[in-house]
Amino acid sequence: MALQIVIIGAGITGLSSAIALKKYLPDPKPIITIVETRSAPSTIGGAVNLTPKALRYLDHLGVLEVLHAEGAGAECRAIELFDLYTGSKTADLDFRGRDGDGIGKTGSKKYFAMRVMRKELQRALLKVMGEQEGCELLFGKDVVDIEESTDGVRVGFKGGQSIHGDVLLGCDGIHSCVRSLLIDKDRKPTYTKIATSMAVSNVRRENQLRWDATALISSRRGSFMASYFEKSRKQQYIAVVLETEEVNSREGWKVKGADQAEVKRQILERFDNKAIPELRQLVEDAGDWTLYPVYKLPHGGRWTAPGGRCILLGDAAHAVLVVDIPIEGA
Ligand SMILES: Cc1cc2nc3c(=O)[nH]c(=O)nc-3n(C[C@H](O)[C@H](O)[C@H](O)COP(=O)(O)OP(=O)(O)OC[C@H]3O[C@@H](n4cnc5c(N)ncnc54)[C@H](O)[C@@H]3O)c2cc1C
Repeated sequence: MALQIVIIGAGITGLSSAIALKKYLPDPKPIITIVETRSAPSTIGGAVNLTPKALRYLDHLGVLEVLHAEGAGAECRAIELFDLYTGSKTADLDFRGRDGDGIGKTGSKKYFAMRVMRKELQRALLKVMGEQEGCELLFGKDVVDIEESTDGVRVGFKGGQSIHGDVLLGCDGIHSCVRSLLIDKDRKPTYTKIATSMAVSNVRRENQLRWDATALISSRRGSFMASYFEKSRKQQYIAVVLETEEVNSREGWKVKGADQAEVKRQILERFDNKAIPELRQLVEDAGDWTLYPVYKLPHGGRWTAPGGRCILLGDAAHAVLVVDIPIEGA
């Protein structure tokens, strides 16, 4: 009989897990139900960097082909690191590999990295997931309890309905209900008081960027990231980490009205420097700033339930761990 798998969360982890299980588990293929709390896929979120290893996995899953067909993402051969005060390059995080043609074993397919909007990656995953037989996605479901027994797992929803499975994957992100209801109730995320401020900006023709794809510019007051994320290379995605006491939404929020100008002001105060004049135009022309709060989980904790039928994956398991580093002389 086919295995019944319940996946909580239709983010990057949940969708890629569903496709991988369908593709790689032997016959009879599992029946998969994905449960998502949102009523529709979110369009909030910045551009994510997919490493060569991530691209190899997505290629095996058939998702990279969809990204290419839709013209999504921009190739990144290296993340170039610069010093804000001198403008000079300090290092490359290199994806070109030994022979300059990407990362991968000799004789096998090689990959550079790619930066792509999270929503485009999610859309490609949803497309491939939708092509799998016996894979259902339920939007707008509020999970209120989860029980693991020797026979399987029961997931209860607000309103009284429930579904059953043989195994359950908790892919529901940093605020995981699978973690808080079943696996590790005491391991709670805390807000770090920093949020990633991100926006998209046009690149004016006269603005000669010193980087090919992605720059990470270090200063005494944090880092500035700028990157192409679409094929026409007319726009840059920019992101900076800022201290923010308030959390308006656990999963990111659009900055409103006058606060847009305040975000720009704070970023220019930190990063406007003659050594890298390109940054000023990018910040000035950027619109629609979004803030994405950074949460952390305490070190340690469990990833599986006692009966071995439930597991946490992705951010639900391991988003930003707090590691205590002993300070010399302290
Ligand atoms: C809207 C959004 C915007 C993001 N933007 C950024 C960004 O700009 N920069 C960045 O570095 N990272 C961002 N992330 C996080 C990034 O996507 C993840 O770090 C990474 O992709 C790992 O993915 P994940 O699937 O484990 O978690 P996530 O991408 O967080 O996906 C978790 C999924 O589970 C769903 N979910 C949550 N709780 C429940 C529940 N109780 N029941 C059912 N479903 C639930 C969520 O709606 C989401 O679809 C964002 C995540 C989200 C959800």
